[in-house]
Amino acid sequence: MLNIRYELTKNPKQLPGKDDPLKFGTIFTDHMFIMNYETGKGWFDPRVVPYQPVVLDPSAMVFHYGQEVFEGLKAYKTEDGRTLLFRPDMNAKRENNSNRRLCIPEIPEEDFVQAVKAVVKTDEKWIPTKPGTSLYIRPFIIATDPFLGVRPSDTYQFIIILSPVGAYYPEGLNPVKIWIEDDYVRAVRGGIGETKTGGNYVASMAAQMKAHEEGYSQVLWLDGVERKYIEEVGAMNIFFKINGKVLTPKLNGSILPGITRNTCLELCREWGYPVEERKISVDELYEASVNGSMEEVWGTGTAAVISPVGHLRFEDKVMQIKDGGIGELSQKLYDTVTGIQLGKIKDTRGWTVEVK
Ligand SMILES: *Cc1c(COP(=O)(O)O)cnc(C)c1O
Repeated sequence: MLNIRYELTKNPKQLPGKDDPLKFGTIFTDHMFIMNYETGKGWFDPRVVPYQPVVLDPSAMVFHYGQEVFEGLKAYKTEDGRTLLFRPDMNAKRENNSNRRLCIPEIPEEDFVQAVKAVVKTDEKWIPTKPGTSLYIRPFIIATDPFLGVRPSDTYQFIIILSPVGAYYPEGLNPVKIWIEDDYVRAVRGGIGETKTGGNYVASMAAQMKAHEEGYSQVLWLDGVERKYIEEVGAMNIFFKINGKVLTPKLNGSILPGITRNTCLELCREWGYPVEERKISVDELYEASVNGSMEEVWGTGTAAVISPVGHLRFEDKVMQIKDGGIGELSQKLYDTVTGIQLGKIKDTRGWTVEVK
């Protein structure tokens, strides 16, 4: 249990207007959470303070060797005015998995969730209420030792910032075009692909640029060894419905274990779909698209929840999924997950946590 100190702002910012589009990640709330770490002392001085710049030595290790982790989750406002988080314990667990891999000290799960609740509660009035909007929560940890040698840092800061975000699809679910990358790879087994860390994102940017130039919005990664098996999309996991079966790549160490992925797997199993987590080759997908058994493709992630895929391209092969519309199961997953998140559908699984 953290003993959180509060230093509240004397100059609150103006809240965004009701019709502000709230472009993702551009507006930040009045406060942030910070807690420090020192070897021998552990995590200390948990506090909610006004949103402000972080002052670090230019030699701080995070700038040079990328020792950092982050998380992403959202707070939602229900119609009856409650504030809900969705499975925040899963973010706490995943952050600790990332921490172990990157030699960053762990944070007890209940402290992580308590810190998220404390800062969300403080800036509760920043949670937008229009359909599809939410308050995006970005916890992260950075290595702060002023030292140019390569070793794990002895000091860290754990920070949580908040950003009101608009509907991902203001005009309803919109199928995206995806580029299957055959040259660059994102991660390899034994590397850091299953951690949520900046290094995985910088590794993905060149391919992202290439895909954009070709008119595609996202990259679908193949495995780093054979470049044959599907891994995941930029910041989403990927699902296929082929011949009535729900398929998604098995977690193999180089794929990020998405919480939305886990949620969709549980729901599909509960609804009685045959579900397979296994290796899926591009050839299998192309075959399914040619013989007409490819029924639906969608990405899963906190930002979009469900992102239908209308079109995949691998080298000179184009796979058109359906007539470019959204599949029945994709829509049902979207409606169910967002319904639970917003408190419209009864949560029978203990997935939502109220911020009081
Ligand atoms: C965060 C992330 C996801 C999605 O995870 P969710 O917990 O569902 O938001 C998928 N892939 C990558 C690379 C990610 O960073």
